[in-house]
Amino acid sequence: MPNSPARILADLGFRYDPANVYQQVITQVLEAGHRLNLPRHLQLIMAEPKSEVMVHFPVEMDDGSFKLFKGYRVQHNNILGPYKGGIRYHHGVSLDHVKALSVLMTMKCSLAGLPLGGGKGGVQVNPRELSQDELMRLTRRFTAALGDNIGPNHDIPAPDVGTNAQVMAWMADTYINFNNATHHGSGAAVVTGKPVAFGGSVGREKATGQGVVYVIEDLLPEMISKPLADTTYSVVGYGNVGSWTGKLMAAHGSKLLAVMDHTGAIAPNDVAEGLDAIALADYVTETGGVANFPGSKPISEEAFYTTKVDLFVPAALEQMIGTKEAQMLNCRVIAEAANAPTTPEGEKVLAERGIDVLPAILCNCGGVVVSYFEWMQNRQSEIWELDRVDAELRKHMRSAAAKVLAARTELDCDMRTAAFAAALKHVAEVYRLRGIFP
Ligand code: GLU
Repeated sequence: MPNSPARILADLGFRYDPANVYQQVITQVLEAGHRLNLPRHLQLIMAEPKSEVMVHFPVEMDDGSFKLFKGYRVQHNNILGPYKGGIRYHHGVSLDHVKALSVLMTMKCSLAGLPLGGGKGGVQVNPRELSQDELMRLTRRFTAALGDNIGPNHDIPAPDVGTNAQVMAWMADTYINFNNATHHGSGAAVVTGKPVAFGGSVGREKATGQGVVYVIEDLLPEMISKPLADTTYSVVGYGNVGSWTGKLMAAHGSKLLAVMDHTGAIAPNDVAEGLDAIALADYVTETGGVANFPGSKPISEEAFYTTKVDLFVPAALEQMIGTKEAQMLNCRVIAEAANAPTTPEGEKVLAERGIDVLPAILCNCGGVVVSYFEWMQNRQSEIWELDRVDAELRKHMRSAAAKVLAARTELDCDMRTAAFAAALKHVAEVYRLRGIFP
């Protein structure tokens, strides 16, 4: 089959590697394209990013020594608008990870109906090992090294794992200094997820978690025949996305029965009460992890995955749910708050076991939706109120969910394929209208 994912990748010279995260993600996207009968040239275009920038730059450490860092910015596609996507600081950052995440940004922006393309960046570093000063110098050198590869009309970074509003403020400030751009308008619009005092948007910090919870509110009760007040759930990863999901689920009275992060796994001492998701968020901010949270007891990884819950929320890194985890999970539905948390093998096991998956590009597109609102506010010198941000976010999430459900019915497929298909359909329409230059 000339248009099958395996054939497309082979024709592009990929050496088949089932463990490679980029190949896993792009295969899923191309499968959806295949189902949609996407023209072969569009499958080829989707299979490779438009550009891949790799930089190496030195940073002076507090002790006077120098370290050389490796950074990336991958620009997957800009047919819909400027490249958009986060910057990750993590020791596991690699070109293939960033490429995989950049494709997902193209898919997310399209599904969410934004006039933005997909990109992603990162630096191979463990930010927990750096002082604030070192983090600032690293961020400024990385931004300088990226140079004209980013810009408010061209490629707009945002926070991701290991970066935050402060890092975005340093990025914007560095860009503004290099480009003599003014603070308001174009300068600050070079990145989103900035502090509210410096051109950020209210509601951006919670946006990804808020989007996850909007999707859960709209779809989960019918799937499990239960109101959210009676719903139990567990979460892996309690950083920005996991903790905001927890805090917003707490407002519905849903019960948090287990949480795991890089410091360990915990369960409530009193199962009838569940864990206090709001207090846990504060505790993690103070201590850096969920371990030893008052009112909880440590549990094993196996006990975490086998905890019986209605909903499981992966909110950590990609590829966490492999075959082993998928076999252990004791839930009805998974809401993927993280990017690409399920491996293809894991996915097969989940399907066999009848566990439904609300796919990542739907669940977690709220972050980039509010980034879009921030970018618009910067460009128009506007300041929106939280009610407006939330109401507009809700509209985008509802419309994205409706597109996924429609594609599922039309193509008679699983939700992940449907989400990619809905995203690709829009991209294909714009390619058809614009044509391929020249
Ligand atoms: N890093 C986030 C994501 O993976 C947000 C990207 C953005 O706001 O541009 O969706």
